[in-house]
Amino acid sequence: MTGPVLPSHGRVRPLGLAQVSLTGGFWGDRQAVNATATLAHCESWMERLGWLANFDRVADGATGPDRPGWSFSDSEVYKLLEALAWETARTGDPEAEAAIKRLTVRVARAQDPDGYLNTCFGHGDQPPRYSDLEMGHELYNTGHLLQAAVARLRTSGEDDLVRVARRAADHVCRTFGPGGSAGICGHPEIEVGLAEFGRALGEERYVEQARLFLDRRGHGTLRDIPLGRAYFQDDVPVREADVWRGHAVRALYLTAAAVDVAVERGDGELLDAVRRQWERSVARRTYITGGMGSRHQDEGFGEDWELPPDRAYCETCAGVASIMVSWRLLLATGDPRYADLIERTLYNVIATSPSSDGRAFFYANPLHQRTPGKAADPDEVSPRAEGGTRAAWFDVSCCPTNVARTLASLHGYLATTDDDGLQIHQYAPCAIRAELPGGRTAAVDVETGYPESGVVRLRVAADTPGPWTLTLRVPAWATGATLTEDGRTRRAAPGLVRVHRTFRAGEVITLDLPVEPRFTWPDPRIDAVRGCVAVERGPEVLCAESRDLPDPAALDALVIDPRSAPRAGGGAVLVRALLPGHPGRSWPYLPRPAPAAGDAGWIDLPLRPYHSWARRGPAGMRVWLPVPAAEAVPAAEAGSVTGAVPAAAAAGDREGSPAR
Ligand SMILES: [Zn+2]
Repeated sequence: MTGPVLPSHGRVRPLGLAQVSLTGGFWGDRQAVNATATLAHCESWMERLGWLANFDRVADGATGPDRPGWSFSDSEVYKLLEALAWETARTGDPEAEAAIKRLTVRVARAQDPDGYLNTCFGHGDQPPRYSDLEMGHELYNTGHLLQAAVARLRTSGEDDLVRVARRAADHVCRTFGPGGSAGICGHPEIEVGLAEFGRALGEERYVEQARLFLDRRGHGTLRDIPLGRAYFQDDVPVREADVWRGHAVRALYLTAAAVDVAVERGDGELLDAVRRQWERSVARRTYITGGMGSRHQDEGFGEDWELPPDRAYCETCAGVASIMVSWRLLLATGDPRYADLIERTLYNVIATSPSSDGRAFFYANPLHQRTPGKAADPDEVSPRAEGGTRAAWFDVSCCPTNVARTLASLHGYLATTDDDGLQIHQYAPCAIRAELPGGRTAAVDVETGYPESGVVRLRVAADTPGPWTLTLRVPAWATGATLTEDGRTRRAAPGLVRVHRTFRAGEVITLDLPVEPRFTWPDPRIDAVRGCVAVERGPEVLCAESRDLPDPAALDALVIDPRSAPRAGGGAVLVRALLPGHPGRSWPYLPRPAPAAGDAGWIDLPLRPYHSWARRGPAGMRVWLPVPAAEAVPAAEAGSVTGAVPAAAAAGDREGSPAR
C-alpha cells in the first residue's frame, strides 16, 4: 500500500502508507480535522451546488444550458475521491468508504460507452468534446480522475472507480495517441495522472501517452491567448525551459509529470532541465513562505525578484503542486533541499489555508493584508480568491479538495528508505515501521513537540539484526543543531546527518534543532521588501497582526529595531517596534528622505506564526517588517550608527507636495 507517487526507481523510495502513521502533534491534529470535518464539508458543498448532480444529469440525458459550476468542477469530485481513498486506508473509516462507493456510482453512470467522461462537453446542447482545449479542462479533469484511481488501486485494489478510470485513460490514448489528434490540454494534469496510473497498473502505454503530451507542449500547440502561451507553458518546450512561468499551478503540475517521465524513461536531460528550473525559480520567484505566484491576473509567476508581499497570490494549490514537484525530485535525487522546501511550504502555505475547524480555507495567501477582510459567511460561496479571511467554499474551489487530499496522505511524505536504511525528512510525532532490504524492519517512534520545540527524540521500537543507517535531515535554517546518541553529543550541520550501527529497542537518538526566533533578510533585488526584515522560528514564518497593536492603523508604518533580537514572551515572539504617528501628508513623495514619523512610543510587538493569521478574526497582517533605513535620515540627524532607529522627529514640516 503505497502513497501518491511510486517511481520505478530513484535515489530513495517512499514508505508504504501502512509503514508510517502520524500520532498527534501539529500535523496529526490537522489530519484528524481533515478526516472528521473537511471531507464531509467538501461533499456537502458539491452536492448543494449541483456539481455532483452534473454527473446524474449526463447519465439521465438531461444536460441543459444551465449546468452549474465551471468546466473543472468534475475535478473537485475526483480530488475528494482521492482524499477519501487515502483516508479509508489510514483509518478504515466506514463513512469514507461509503462515500467513495456512492460517489463512484454517480461518476460511473455518467461515463459514455466509449470511455469519455465529462459533464461539461459532448452531451445534449453542450459544446462538442475537445472543442476548447485551451480553457475547457477536459483532460485536466481526467487527470484528477486517474490520480483518484491510483489512490484507490494502491489502498484497496481494482474496483469500479479504477475500471472507470481505465476506460477514460484508454479513451484519451485512442483520441490523442499516435495517429490521433495532436492536441494538449490548456491545464496540465493529465500528464501526471497518466504517468502514475501507468506506474500503478504496470501499463507502459499510459506513461508513453504522458511523454507524448509533454513533448507536444511548448511548440505553440494551443491557440494564442491575451495572456500569451506562457500562461499554459506552451511557449517553450519543458526540456528547454530555464524557469517556471505563467500560471503557477499549471507550471508545477506539468513539472511534476516531467519528473515522472524523466525517471521512468531514464531521461537525464529532462531531469536536469527540471532541476535547473527548480533552482532558478526557488532562488528568484518564491516567497519566504514557499508560496509561488505573484500575479493575480493570470494566477502566475512574475519575473525574477517580482515578489510583492501585498500582491502575493500564492495560491494554496500552487503550494500543493510545489510539494508534488519537490517530493518527486527528492525521491529521484535524495537531495535534502527538496525536503527543506516541502517543509517550508507545508508549514506556511498548506497549514495556513484551512481554518481550525476544517470548514473554511484561504485560496490566495498574501504576505501583507493592508485592510482587514470581512468575516466570511459560512453559508456563502466566495466569488473571489482573495479577501483576507478564510471562506467556506469558492466559486473556483480547487484549493479545499487539494488541501484535503494532501493532508489525508501527508504521512507518506515523512520518510523514505534506500538500500542502507531509513531517511527521515520531516519531523512530527509518528510511528515508523519501514521495511529494509533483506526482510528487516526499521522501527522508530518519533516523539517531538515540533515545531514549537526543536527537540526530536527518535526511540528505537524494536531490535533489528545487523547494522543500518538512520539518516536525518537538518534543515538549512538549523545552524547549531546537535545529535545525541549513546550519551555523546555532536554537531549536526545543515544537510544530512547519519547514524550507522546496529539499533536496539529502547535506544533514543535525539536531534536538537535550534528553533529560537531569528531575523531573515531579503535579497536586495526583491525591491518590494527592500528595507524590511522577517522573523522566522524553526520552519515557521511569523507575522504581525493589526489586532495586536494599540493602534491597528500603525501596522502600515511601524519600524522595528533589528539590533534587538526577537525573543519569546506572552505566547508569542516579541520584537521591539516603534509605532509612528500619522503625518497626514497630502502627497507621499518627498524632496528628501523622510525620517521616522512622530514617535508614538516603543512597544514589544507580538509576532505569531503566519499560518495562524486571521484565526482570531479579520485582521491586517504583515510578514515583512520595515527597519529604519540609514538613508531615510539626514546624516546630521542619524548619528554614526548605520541602521539606527532615528530619534522621533516631526515630519510635517519636511513634506513634499505635488502643488509646489
Ligand atoms: Zn486552488
